[in-house]
Amino acid sequence: MRFTKKAAVFGATAIVAALTLSACGGGSTDNNSSSGADAPYKVADNVSLSGSPTFDKVKGDGKITIGVKEDQPGLGFKDPATGEYSGFDIDTARWMAASLGLSADKITFQAIASANREQALVNGQIDLYIGTYSITDKRKAQIDFAGPYLVTGQALLVKKDNTTINSDKDLAGKTVCSATGSTPIQNIKDKYKETKTTEFDVYSKCVDALKNGQVDAVTTDQPILAGYAAQDPDNLKVVGEPFTTEKYGIGLKKGDGALRKFLNDVLTNGKNIWTKLYDNNLGKSGLKLEQPAVDNY
Ligand code: GLU
Repeated sequence: MRFTKKAAVFGATAIVAALTLSACGGGSTDNNSSSGADAPYKVADNVSLSGSPTFDKVKGDGKITIGVKEDQPGLGFKDPATGEYSGFDIDTARWMAASLGLSADKITFQAIASANREQALVNGQIDLYIGTYSITDKRKAQIDFAGPYLVTGQALLVKKDNTTINSDKDLAGKTVCSATGSTPIQNIKDKYKETKTTEFDVYSKCVDALKNGQVDAVTTDQPILAGYAAQDPDNLKVVGEPFTTEKYGIGLKKGDGALRKFLNDVLTNGKNIWTKLYDNNLGKSGLKLEQPAVDNY
């Protein structure tokens, strides 16, 4: 099944109800036991993958460090009370680790902000990055991506009582907040010259700025914004339709073509698993996004 543009354009309000809330915390080992027995995939044994430096390292260490977001409910989220990680990106990370022969208890999740992802991969601080990470040519100069595993687009989050911002056409003279180093802030700077920008390392700080009245809107990918709207549906709403195309990839060290192909094969051969993970996290309200075909670059 190929992804279509139409499939990316979904009603944000519909997903709001499906997502849960909270704040953020530090990085730590995956202690979510629910990712074990009831997961729709098995931990592979005797994985055959030659020519991958990352796999050799991970196999030798018997553990994997995966960079994620932890303040994006429904995608990458760490429950501050229990320390449990949840979301579509987190489950995708567990699936990829399992396909490499590593069970959930062998995963260390490390929160890495949007601006620091390439460097964390280049430095070897993390083995993979799975967290609303758009595949771009600029990033591909430093790292490689498997995927895409999800395609969405940039949208807007405003206060519920806001009547002046209904789409990206209404941003002239407004102040919009997004994360440093992200594709949405760059898009605003490049194409919306009459719009002022405020930036933070993570989106949850933009949401605070919106609630405090410091900014008029938050912009990033629609499912991320829907997660924040779900935290506070009485005060926040997602408006308009996505106005960019964001293809989420799995970040890995540049030149590890063997690992990229391996992960692409896992994604391509795992349509039922993908659907289950999607339904569990983002599709609870009945929204349907199709799994995109992986890139062959
Ligand atoms: N997908 C966009 C990006 O990679 C926005 C979300 C994010 O910052 O993680 O820049």
